[in-house]
Parts: sequence; C-alpha cells; structure tokens
Amino acid sequence: MPAQILVVEDESAIQELIALNLEQAGQTPILAGSAEEAWTCIQTALPDLVLLDWMLPGQSGVDFARRLRAEPRTRLLPIIMLTARGEEDDKLRGLDTGADDYITKPFSTKELQARIKAVLRRRAPEITDDAIEYNGLNLDPASHRVTGKGKGLEMGPTEFRLLHFFMTHPERVYSRTQLLDHVWGDHVFIEERTVDVHIRRLRAALEPARLEAFVQTVRGAGHRFSKAPWRGRTPSP
Ligand code: CA
Repeated sequence: MPAQILVVEDESAIQELIALNLEQAGQTPILAGSAEEAWTCIQTALPDLVLLDWMLPGQSGVDFARRLRAEPRTRLLPIIMLTARGEEDDKLRGLDTGADDYITKPFSTKELQARIKAVLRRRAPEITDDAIEYNGLNLDPASHRVTGKGKGLEMGPTEFRLLHFFMTHPERVYSRTQLLDHVWGDHVFIEERTVDVHIRRLRAALEPARLEAFVQTVRGAGHRFSKAPWRGRTPSP
C-alpha cells in the first residue's frame, strides 16, 4: 500500500516539488496550505505521515504538531518538521514539538526519502516494503508474496495486510478495535466480528505450511502474533 503523506506547506513551489518527489517514490501526497486545511484533511482520513512546515500562516507548524500530539486520534501520527536553514532551524530543535524528525530546506529527494523511510520504519513498519521472516514464515510486501517453509501461501488482500501488521508488531496483543484501526484504517465502520472472520481466514491460509499457530487468540484480550509459537519445541516438519 503506498504511504499517504500529508504535506503542510504554504509555499506552492515547495509544495509542488515535495508532491512530485513523493509521487516518484510511489507515495501518495495530500496537500494542505495551512494547519487549518491540514486538520480538515485529517478529519477525512488519517495519513501515514505528516511533513509539516514550521512557518505557516495562521497556526504555526509547532503549535499544530502539539495539537496533533494532544489528540488521541493523532497522538501517534509520525511527523517530520520542515525548517529553513539557520536561526529558525536551531530554535526549532530546542523546542519540544513532539516531531519525530526535522529536515532543513532546501533538501534533496534522496534526503527526504531517507528521513521518511527511517521514521516510517520506526513508527509504522507495516507500511514499509521491508521483507520479514520468522521461523519459516516469510512475507514480502514488495512482491506481495507470503511463503511458509518455502511453499507459496495464497491469501486475500485483507489477510495479507493483517499478517503484515502482525509480523511488524509481534508479541503484542491487539484488541479487535485496535486491529480495525491499524489494518482497516480508522474512520472505517466495520463490525468487530469481521476481524474474527479474517483471523480465521488468515489461519486457514497458513495451514498448508502448518504455521497457523503463529496467530494466537488471547481470551478476552484479542489476538497476537507469536514469533516462536512452539515454545522450545521443534516446529513440525
Ligand atoms: Ca512556510
């Protein structure tokens, strides 16, 4: 899934340049010229990352970043602040804005992408293209393939996203509501029972390689991906 990146920048030339860079890297830019416009965009759909200019007309980037950190829905949204070289840059780094990273204008496409990938890898590994492997189960987002003990495993797009999320967040229990938010996206109104259906389908998809034990149900709490569900026992051949 291409990462949705909200670009909050009032200078249209810079905004366009960033949008072009993001598109070339296979990401989807969403453009806003002010904090107020950005807030409206966020109400519609939560982006995967925000590129936020410090100097904006109206509410400043610093205040907007603090607002995002204060709201439960946007609290964990990855933020990269854009600053101008020199005094502004130094001053900003001294402030507690809650931003994940800072990037100084002008920047190269390469630098921008390196920062975006680093922040996403840390904050939202399920939307990066890094292949993941645990004990014979391999998922490659780039080719959209899952293999279990070398065998290709067929599954639907939702099961794939679910497995990708689980594999990038192992050993943690997620409730149905949390899985809906992370895998289906927030603001999507789906019954919680739907999660159970897709969990069952995911287990069934892992069965041909006898790897269904990776996906565990924790009674009364939710579901969890265990990196080594055999607990010291040798996995069945
Ligand atoms: Ca500006």
